[in-house]
Amino acid sequence: MRPIQMVDLKRQYTNIKSAVDSAIQEVLDSAAFINGPAVTNLAQGLASYTGSKHVIPCANGTDALQIAMMALDLQPGDEVITPSFTFVATTEVVALLKLKPVFVEVDPKTFCIDPAAIEKAITPKTKAIVPVHLYGQAAPMEAILDIARRHNLYVIEDNAQAIGGTYTFSNGDTKKTGTMGHIGTTSFFPSKNLGCYGDGGAIFTDDDTLANRLKMIANHGQSKRYYHDIVGCNSRLDSMQAAVLNVKLQHLDQYTAARRAAADFYDNAFKAHPKITTPYRASYSHHVFHQYTLLLEGVDRNGLNEFLASKSIPSMIYYPVPGHKQQMFAAFGGADYHLETTDWLTERVISLPMHTELDDEQLNYISSNVLEYINKN
Ligand SMILES: *Cc1c(COP(=O)(O)O)cnc(C)c1O
Repeated sequence: MRPIQMVDLKRQYTNIKSAVDSAIQEVLDSAAFINGPAVTNLAQGLASYTGSKHVIPCANGTDALQIAMMALDLQPGDEVITPSFTFVATTEVVALLKLKPVFVEVDPKTFCIDPAAIEKAITPKTKAIVPVHLYGQAAPMEAILDIARRHNLYVIEDNAQAIGGTYTFSNGDTKKTGTMGHIGTTSFFPSKNLGCYGDGGAIFTDDDTLANRLKMIANHGQSKRYYHDIVGCNSRLDSMQAAVLNVKLQHLDQYTAARRAAADFYDNAFKAHPKITTPYRASYSHHVFHQYTLLLEGVDRNGLNEFLASKSIPSMIYYPVPGHKQQMFAAFGGADYHLETTDWLTERVISLPMHTELDDEQLNYISSNVLEYINKN
């Protein structure tokens, strides 16, 4: 059996090596390292893949969130509602921009932000909601967009974990995740569903005015070279990363299918086990399984993690500390929050290896070892 990793980037590369190598060679030959044709091609490719009118590549997914918030012209102290159960980047940029993060609960089934909790957290200072399509599952966008419309709030979708996923509205319309809010953001960090070989990110919007501002902010606030109208930053995706992404974008749907097939295998192996809840698949969401995350009941999670490690099976806790309990947000009243569902999930989740190259032999080995530990302990 091949060794098992959380994410097997080496084998994925081996399978597309000639296309990737020649795409990189092309950039080397052209010496167009910044803003070369590969970057323009990627923006166009992502626009047609997602149906988003504008795509602005940038340096990473955290920058994408920061630039999105800068473009909305929020004022210090304005409140931004985010789930507490997410990667820190979602909330970190809120604090960095001197805005106030407001942590809310997630749904215990979908792990995504709970619309009822958003509604309760709204104050006259609330300006934006940042739903996260966590682990590859679409957040309940119809309810979120409805709340935003009623309260005149911006919606920024953090789509770092769900590129290629979709959301289906009650009228049957289906849209790609990251294209429903005012702005969507994503990350091309190597382990993401569409990952490059370094850092990368992108911003999505259908709004022409916002697109223009986003582009300017990502490039020192300039409209014309050396004419800087607004305060921006330097956040570029380099041409070599774009070249890699242009190749991988052609495979994204096939990669998603491989992830979903691995998830099906796991689901079947853990089906109806009294101590294991397999990932919920909301009917409105085409889940792209950035992570395959189990919810354990009455299981010593550290014991399982150590047992699996002794069998050369990695497993991870995403995330061991929720936002409202992070030291960095203490000044925002972290200790005053009581987010029971978030705390409950934080203590019970465990993510198993999930990537595009898992075979049945590996999946069988992983799931039988998980079951062996849980059934004995
Ligand atoms: C990875 C990730 C980010 C940040 O992306 P980087 O490219 O690493 O900056 C933001 N939000 C979520 C939910 C993520 O998973």
